[in-house]
Amino acid sequence: MKDTPPVPNTRKRKSRTNAVHAGTRRSQYGEVSEAIFLTQGFVYDTAEDAEARFLDAGREEFIYARYGNPTVAMFEDRIAALEGTEDAFACASGMAAVNGAMMAILKAGDHVVAARALFGSCLYILDDVLRRFGVEVTLIDGTDIDAWAAAIRPDTRVAFFETISNPTLEVIDIAAVADLAHAVGALVVVDNVFATPTYSRAMELGADVIVYSTTKHIDGQGRCLGGVICGTRDFVRGVAEPYMKHTGGSMSPFTAWVMLKGLEHLDLRVRAQTGTATQIATALEGHPKLSRVIYPHLPSHPQYDVALRQMDEGGTMVAFDLTGGKDAAYRFLNALDIIIISNNLGDAKSIATPPATTTHQRLPDDQKAALGITPGLIRLSCGLEDSGDLIADILDALDAA
Ligand SMILES: *Cc1c(COP(=O)(O)O)cnc(C)c1O
Repeated sequence: MKDTPPVPNTRKRKSRTNAVHAGTRRSQYGEVSEAIFLTQGFVYDTAEDAEARFLDAGREEFIYARYGNPTVAMFEDRIAALEGTEDAFACASGMAAVNGAMMAILKAGDHVVAARALFGSCLYILDDVLRRFGVEVTLIDGTDIDAWAAAIRPDTRVAFFETISNPTLEVIDIAAVADLAHAVGALVVVDNVFATPTYSRAMELGADVIVYSTTKHIDGQGRCLGGVICGTRDFVRGVAEPYMKHTGGSMSPFTAWVMLKGLEHLDLRVRAQTGTATQIATALEGHPKLSRVIYPHLPSHPQYDVALRQMDEGGTMVAFDLTGGKDAAYRFLNALDIIIISNNLGDAKSIATPPATTTHQRLPDDQKAALGITPGLIRLSCGLEDSGDLIADILDALDAA
């Protein structure tokens, strides 16, 4: 692995500066906005050059877009600078990143412990794919540190969890799980989508590998699917990259460009969306038609202390439960005027989702109940609209429910 970082000293800069400049590579034309290198191949001056590049390509020497591309490299370096990791590998989707991170690390006979409260496709990889390949998987209540202690064994290779779970916003104590996992030499792999790079302290709290679906806040305008695996340079280039580049889950240069531009204003968007989420959660708590309002930085949240320690703010997502169940939830959704019914999150547009009948429809009823995915539950991704307009929209729709 040759190593030629294009923009040195990103670590000394603040993240708002890195979000705009880190990773930039300019062509001979000196363009201001990052170029989209929409090419899958690269030309070698001589046959000897081709041979040398296949033998050992440096970070600025490209072969084929599945292996790497200048626009993709810009995105990788920028997100790594923001996340505080040495390197990153960009993937075709969040699921390509989750699957790639796990498959690159694990082999038959290994043991994985994972929190049960997972995004449906993550659960499919853990519960179905990995088991088919002879990996033993133990699913536990991720908020229960004693359950982690009981499940982690000397042969445990990976501890996997969503740092804030979808859709019920459970907050998992990264440092406590990392202590237990590291004691047996296991890697801590976290899906950090709901925390976002803005509020992430996953690396300093002990996560080894941090995975994002960049489809969410990083794009932030609902355009492209993408994912990324962040970690040490040895892990990213030595473990993740070989698996990803040979199995086809690499990010396209066009997508990388969208994500790169998304990172420039990620911090501004996420902080504004979080301000709105905080106002909405506060306004809704105690509403007579709601049995619970879930927001990590509300004192009523079951892991409030962990959420305070782990995140400066509570994030962009709120969940609440209508006492009237599915009928009330549907009347509420159908009465919304500004907020749209969809299933993306982190978007500029506020989005309401009924998880029990959409994203988590296929979970058996007993598992839904165990995860608190009740028929009246609404997951709300707060967007960039005026917060007063959104609160009025929600209160009007609750009246109609
Ligand atoms: C959306 C999401 C994913 C999957 O990402 P895609 O980009 O849709 O493949 C994984 N984990 C979480 C927590 C998500 O919200």
